[in-house]
Amino acid sequence: MPALSEIKIIKIEEELRKCPDCGYELGFHTSFVNAHANKEDPVKSTRELYRVILICPECGARYDVGWKIPASEWGHRIIKTPAIKLSRI
Ligand SMILES: [Zn+2]
Repeated sequence: MPALSEIKIIKIEEELRKCPDCGYELGFHTSFVNAHANKEDPVKSTRELYRVILICPECGARYDVGWKIPASEWGHRIIKTPAIKLSRI
């Protein structure tokens, strides 16, 4: 698998369908990158944010158009399970 390309920040004009790097015209795949993953910020966010990254299916170029989405609600739930005393095992 080839190394991931650098994420380029671009702006959507009228429509973003064509890859600026290779000219592929049929749109993009998407991936999600933790917005705080590469920051050395001692203040932790109370809510995780993900950057929506567009990936060209033809050349693999990656683009950030400024979209961010919050982590899903279920990821913050705590699942409670019955406690088992170790002495019974
Ligand atoms: Zn491309």
